[in-house]
Formats: sequence, structure tokens, C-alpha cells
Amino acid sequence: MSNASNPLATSRIAVLGYGSQGRAHALNLRDSGLDVVVGLRPNGPTWHKAKADGFNVAEPAEAVKGADLVAVLTPDMVQPTLYRESIEPNIKPGAALLFAHGFNVHFGQIKPRADIDVILVAPKGPGALVRSEYERGRGVPCIWAVHQDVSGQAEAKTKGYADGIGGGRAMIIRTDFKEETETDLFGEQAVLCGGASELVIKGFETLVEAGYQPEIAYYEVMHELKLIVDLFYDGGLAKMLQFVSETAQYGDYVSGPRVVDAGTKARMKDVLTDIQDGTFARNWIAEYQAGLPNYKRLKQADLEHPIEQVGAKLRARMPWLQPNPAPAAVAPLKKAG
Ligand code: NAD
Ligand code: MG
Repeated sequence: MSNASNPLATSRIAVLGYGSQGRAHALNLRDSGLDVVVGLRPNGPTWHKAKADGFNVAEPAEAVKGADLVAVLTPDMVQPTLYRESIEPNIKPGAALLFAHGFNVHFGQIKPRADIDVILVAPKGPGALVRSEYERGRGVPCIWAVHQDVSGQAEAKTKGYADGIGGGRAMIIRTDFKEETETDLFGEQAVLCGGASELVIKGFETLVEAGYQPEIAYYEVMHELKLIVDLFYDGGLAKMLQFVSETAQYGDYVSGPRVVDAGTKARMKDVLTDIQDGTFARNWIAEYQAGLPNYKRLKQADLEHPIEQVGAKLRARMPWLQPNPAPAAVAPLKKAG
């Protein structure tokens, strides 16, 4: 594919990390005709994968040397050490340091050198979608930001990167590191990961404690959530309301606000305040540095919740969920009773 119009056409791009985002970015950038080197710990978990995909793979410090743009796509919590040890001593003056999440810069965990550009491109989708949409000739919308511009080219580089991963084919929206970081954390805590999972768990417990079968409860509050979320995703509230029954709509109007009420919203504001004033970041960094004791305990509790036992059993009977189901691997359903 021609790249002549991309501002990064003659740049070397180092992609550090080859996980969800890193692999998708590296493959898309390369297919956009850009020069990519992947930086990873030798023989780390994704080293061989990047090699097998045909990339020039080097240790992070080596990949950074000579790169005009360094994309930091490792887990957020390892980035400060990676920056200190491998990036700061090696990145060229005038080069760009790119993030897909503003956490470390916004909360001061990385204080980038004053002689480099600092930019952000965050696709609004997981890496697998960033890749599959690109392969279909489309792209996942991206948000972008410039934190520090020493070259005078920071904006052009940012847009060139967004174009290179396919975001330019869809839509790009300007933001800043503060907005991206705070809204991203809020969304995942209050609504997506935290809010949605607690809503499901509390709904499941309510039904099971009232004496209903866990299997039925699972279908009602976990399984069917996908139908509703798909309608949201496709066409917002309007499409959801169009596709559910009048009874479901009436129940939505009268009971939804009883469950998620002004008190919930007030607590959402508390969550947002903790994000904005740095309390959440401080706690999370301390937790990480202490070896994740609470994180591990809370995760284990989620994994041991009864909804997980019943869910595993029921999902094993949903052949469309199994990766490449082999016909023989799906035992015939026995009639109950
Ligand atoms: P990931 O966990 O999927 O992949 C991490 C990669 O970094 C792996 O290749 C791992 O081997 C490598 N790695 C780990 N430690 C390393 C080290 N010390 N040195 C070098 N490489 C190391 O991560 P991800 O989910 O792709 O997240 C990367 C960045 O993208 C994060 O900033 C994240 O916030 C952001 N982001 C992720 C998503 C998403 O959907 N996953 C969406 C938007 C933004
Ligand atoms: Mg939870």
C-alpha cells in the first residue's frame, strides 16, 4: 500500500509490546507501508509471535534507538520502569513518544524528556477489532491528543499514526491526556467493568436467594445482557426500545430508575472525584507495588462466585461459543428429566 502521503512515510516506528493493541498496531502500520520494529523482552511471552509474524524484533532499548516514533503498548503498570530503563536513555531528540492511554503521563508516573513529542492515539476498540476492521479496508475510530510538541510536527505525526492503524478511515476525535485518562477510567469503573458486572451479580443473587434456579437466573441476567448491549451498540436506546416488548419497555421505565437512582449517580460522582483528584491512581499504584494482594483476593472472589460455576456449565452447551467447534467435541444434549 502506498504511504507517500503519510507524515510518517520515512519514519522508523518502534512498537513496544505485542499484546492486544501492540500486535494490531504493528501489523496495520506495516500493511500501511510504514517501517516497524517491535520491541520486546527477549523470549518474553509474545517475542516468538512477533517473530512468526515476520517482524524485526529487538530488545526495547535497541528498538528505541534510531526510532522516530516510539509507541508504548505494554501494560500501563510496567511503563514507568520501561520508560526509565529503555526509553529515556535512548530515544532520539525530536522523536515522538506515543501512548494508547494517558494514565502514566497524566498522573506523573512518566515525566517525558523535554526534547521529545508526547502524543496519544487510542482506538475505541480492542486490538482484534483494530486489526480485523483494517483487513476489511475499514478502521476503528480513534481519539488523539498532543501533550508536548517540540518538533512542530506532533499533530501531523499523531494523525499519521492514526491513519496508519486505520483510524483515519473511520473517524478521529481530538482530546487531551486528562480527558482521555479520566473518562477511560470512569467508564470502565462505573459502567463497563465495575458497574455492569455488579449489576449482573446483584441481579443473579436476588433471583437465587428468592429460590429461583441458578440456571434460569444466569440466562436472565448474564446471558441475555448481550442481546441488549448489541442493540445499544447498533442503534442506541431507540433500537433497544424498538426490539423489546411493550411489557419490557414499561418495566424499564418504572423499575430501572428504582435500581439505578440518584444515589447511584451521586456515588458515580464520588468515583469520578477519586479519579480526578488522583486518589484512585495513588491507590492502584500502591496496590501494584505491594504485589497486588487485594487485587488477587477480589479477583478470586469474582471467579468463585456461583454465577461462574453455573455459567461455565451452561456455556459448555452453547456450541457457537466454542472456538472452532469440532462436531465430536459437542456431546448431544440429553433431555432433562
Ligand atoms: P497487553 O497486556 O495485551 O500486551 C502487553 C504486551 O507488552 C505484551 O506483548 C507483553 O509481552 C509486553 N510486555 C509486558 N511487559 C513488558 C516489558 N516490561 N517490556 C516490554 N514488553 C512488555 O496490553 P494491551 O491491552 O494491548 O495494552 C497496551 C496499552 O494499550 C495500554 O496502555 C492500554 O491502556 C492501552 N489500550 C488498550 C486497549 C485494549 O483494548 N486492550 C484499548 C485502548 C488502549
Ligand atoms: Mg466487579
